[in-house]
Amino acid sequence: MHETARASLDVVARHLDHVLRTNEIPDYPGAMNGVQVEHDGPITRCAVAVDASLRTIEAAISCNANLLIVHHGLFWGGSQPIRGRIFQRVRRLIAHDIAVYASHLPLDLHPTLGNNALMARALELTTSTGFAHFQSIAIGVMGDADVETVTLAARCDALARREGGQLVAVGATPQRRTRRWALCTGAGASSDTVRVAAAAGVDTLIVGEGPHHTAVEASELGIAVLYVGHYATETFGVRALGEEIEHTFGIPWTFVAAPTGL
Ligand SMILES: [Zn+2]
Repeated sequence: MHETARASLDVVARHLDHVLRTNEIPDYPGAMNGVQVEHDGPITRCAVAVDASLRTIEAAISCNANLLIVHHGLFWGGSQPIRGRIFQRVRRLIAHDIAVYASHLPLDLHPTLGNNALMARALELTTSTGFAHFQSIAIGVMGDADVETVTLAARCDALARREGGQLVAVGATPQRRTRRWALCTGAGASSDTVRVAAAAGVDTLIVGEGPHHTAVEASELGIAVLYVGHYATETFGVRALGEEIEHTFGIPWTFVAAPTGL
């Protein structure tokens, strides 16, 4: 028989803030990285999910978790009255003593726990440098390869399908080879990332999602774009945080799948 591991929210949050450099990494105001909701605790089980939604909160309740770790926190929409679905989220969290910890860009760019680093590894790509900056900080990664673009696209599609999505590949024509790639998870494609990719000699851009015009612009520049899905590309980091907490504190964790198909 073994004792159930537990730790206080303060201790776990301090550890995560340190590992993720939460206070040093700039982010969008709505990200509100760190503890978003407190609880009485102590933590006995973590649930990790991409989004803080009613669906993931219900799943956290079902698996008896009292810490929910997310990539997209409760405040993406900015200041809002605590009414309707927002009220339902807050009410469910407090009624079940569930704390919420969010990590957006600090988790995207982390060299060992981050969405970008782990997705590159899952695609069998070796990173050489950073790509796609927010303020002064590189969020994505890039590197050199020598692989058929359709082979890379097939790896991306397998990854997307594992997470309930599917790949949209633009310009991945047969026989074409990927020699320099760049990756930016989530909403990674923009006119800016396409322009930066072209300037860096990137021939294949791998992203979560992006607007239609990014496909048009990339085609004109001879860049293939693999849109793997916002959700699918951001399941890596929160899982890594679950493992990190189990490894450090012995607290068990559960990944809550809540794909949107996007
Ligand atoms: Zn995202």
